[in-house]
Amino acid sequence: MSDPTRPRGPKIIAVANQKGGVGKTTTTINLGAALAESGARVLIVDLDPQGNASTGLGIEADKREFTTYELLLEENDLKDVIQKTSTENLMIIPATVDLSSADIELISNEKRSFLLHDALRQHAMDQYKLDYILIDCPPSLNLLTVNAMVAAHSVLVPLQSEFFALEGLSQLMLTVREVRQTANPKLRIEGVVLTMFDTRNNLSSQVEQDARENLGDLVFNTRIPRNVRLSEAPSYAVSVLSYDSGSKGAEAYRDLAQELIANQSRIAA
Ligand code: ADP
Ligand code: MG
Repeated sequence: MSDPTRPRGPKIIAVANQKGGVGKTTTTINLGAALAESGARVLIVDLDPQGNASTGLGIEADKREFTTYELLLEENDLKDVIQKTSTENLMIIPATVDLSSADIELISNEKRSFLLHDALRQHAMDQYKLDYILIDCPPSLNLLTVNAMVAAHSVLVPLQSEFFALEGLSQLMLTVREVRQTANPKLRIEGVVLTMFDTRNNLSSQVEQDARENLGDLVFNTRIPRNVRLSEAPSYAVSVLSYDSGSKGAEAYRDLAQELIANQSRIAA
């Protein structure tokens, strides 16, 4: 791993976009699995009360006694909250719907924006020898997403290749700037990745052209194609790399992982 901007300790990446259904969870799971496949040790933090990343990686509801909620609001042993997945070197802190109340419970907490930051930097984390932590954010710019941005070194933005895709982006970038001005001056944009890309569809190409014109090299070269294997894999509780290793979806996330490893997170936003 040759990224010179890589911090000591794991590189922490928030996967964020306030729009739902754009590919955040799919990207978190499969990028995580691709990084793990390349030899990195990866922890996924499920920060969405819907718990889709947890389900998608096979952590069933009855195995979610200790979750991101406990990580943020209680002092639990990391050994209780971090779970293995069926993929080697890929771990997860699961979430349940409990997390939806955290947003409100945190309001009166002085350290409300720093809880995830502090939790992920506790000494006990060292024993896991992590290379990457990927945070799967909820579809909102709420306090949970702010916690992710305060904790993270960079933000990775999945952008669905559809009409109006770019419109929500300015709001997201505004939040990144606010976090930079207050709690996390070093926060970078890891990049924008086009998801559900359809080469036969003019609209996809149009969105790509607009994105590259507006965002320049913030846009990853890798495009994630629309691929039915990617939507099927979660119901088998594994990443697409395990479900169908030769699929276009698996190949795309491997490419994204390699691009990310080589990436010097860009500073612009
Ligand atoms: P988000 O986390 O942003 O809400 P998801 O990752 O859950 O979005 O994706 C929304 C839906 O689209 C899911 O059903 C997922 O399986 C599907 N999906 C995501 N990316 C792709 C893709 N590249 N090809 C096909 N289906 C996809
Ligand atoms: Mg999601």
